[in-house]
Amino acid sequence: MQDFDVDLFVIGGGSGGVRAARVAAGHGARVALAEEYRVGGTCVIRGCVPKKLLVLASRFPGELSDSQGFGWRGMAHQLNWPALSEGIESEVSRLEGLYRKGLSSSGVHIYDERAVLTGPHSVQLVRSDTTVKARHILIATGGAPRTPADLVGGHHTITSNEVFALKALPNRVLVLGGGYIAVEFAGIFAGLGSTTTLLHRGERLLRGFDHELQSGLADAYRRSGIHLALGVTIASIEKTNEGFVVLDSAGGRYVVDVVLSATGRLPNTATLGLEGVGVETGENGAILVDAGFRTSIPSIFAVGDVTDRLNLTPVAIREGHALADALFGTPADTALDYESAPTAVFSTPELGTAGLTEEAARHKHLHLQVFKTDFRPMRATLANSSERIRMKVLVDGATDLVVGLHILGREAAELIQLAAVALQMGVTKRQLDSTLAVHPTMAEELVTMRTPIH
Ligand code: NDP
Repeated sequence: MQDFDVDLFVIGGGSGGVRAARVAAGHGARVALAEEYRVGGTCVIRGCVPKKLLVLASRFPGELSDSQGFGWRGMAHQLNWPALSEGIESEVSRLEGLYRKGLSSSGVHIYDERAVLTGPHSVQLVRSDTTVKARHILIATGGAPRTPADLVGGHHTITSNEVFALKALPNRVLVLGGGYIAVEFAGIFAGLGSTTTLLHRGERLLRGFDHELQSGLADAYRRSGIHLALGVTIASIEKTNEGFVVLDSAGGRYVVDVVLSATGRLPNTATLGLEGVGVETGENGAILVDAGFRTSIPSIFAVGDVTDRLNLTPVAIREGHALADALFGTPADTALDYESAPTAVFSTPELGTAGLTEEAARHKHLHLQVFKTDFRPMRATLANSSERIRMKVLVDGATDLVVGLHILGREAAELIQLAAVALQMGVTKRQLDSTLAVHPTMAEELVTMRTPIH
């Protein structure tokens, strides 16, 4: 029988790795975790958390503008970028400290260095040249932004990794891509006051989202002054005295101070030693796992973005937790419904979505009923703004089950979290209808839509 130094060695201190390590240690396992950058991972350090703080910052000018319709006068609004950046960095550091404390107090040993696989049960810590023998190894190294290598002048772009370190708010920004990150950062920059262009190869933003949310967001972005260059690609980027000159495939020319490339993320698997040990990877280098997060090597597991399934923080956390329970505690049901997981995009206005899109639901449900509403929220009346809210409820006419919920507008992320509970519990349209409305709210529309559109 082999002697192991630890029961679980986690490579990667992000959402999935930290959760797995803490839960495993809580079950009494001897756990070590290696992180080469900062504990907390993409979400805490250069993703969800600092991004959401920027989103919040970007919304104040709109609030101040709306406030005038409510009688407020003379409110100054001038952004102090260093103050904002320092505030965000201090919050990120605070959270990082909490993550570290949480790990240490659970008894997890943290190695602040890179770790690579050297065998089915062994890991080498690169800087200290230490080998650790582990009964189980978990790879939770996440992903990294894809860099536009084949683009002429692509080296002039920054990614979401660098965007939080900008020394000043750029006056002119071009964002490349039409996914979560591109859409969110276009909204952030525009809200903060940058002249913003979003350039995307597709005709629609946010592939995979319900069509009406896609078009509603595009309309809202245009109304808020964001220039959408859709159906085009970047032909070249050149650095000049005026700034970066970006030419697109349709002859468009943009002069900007920053080009943010947000064309997707790739699993962080390079030089991890996977090949040598025989851990199989698929497209884009993603680690292949079974339903129990086990790789092709029985003692090695992987969770989160490194498996490139549904790259969302709560998914990684759920997977890490389920794995730790399965290995050291009471195995819970690890099955996750990746298809209908709720998700939100922190654009302004926000998108919240749970269940199937109308397009997907049409394929699956013969008797689909579509309920929708598009209205001006109360605050827009006095504010005299063009703000709108769009909601859609999709119902399987045969069973009355709600199969999809989509919201575009203020607080859509908060609303969809609650609506997702009902959806998860198998709510029917009749039950939605019998729920008493809370008035006057935007959310009451979700329980007062009576007539299907088609
Ligand atoms: P996405 O996969 O969401 O979007 C990538 C975008 O880049 C798509 O619009 C895609 O176009 C486009 N694209 C891909 N390759 C190229 C190329 N070679 N040239 C031009 N355009 C290209 O990735 P993101 O980087 O936005 O985000 C990564 C992941 O992070 C997301 O999938 C999401 O899981 C997660 N995330 C979640 C957030 C949240 O929950 N709010 C926030 C931020 C990130 P096309 O559609 O045509 O393929």
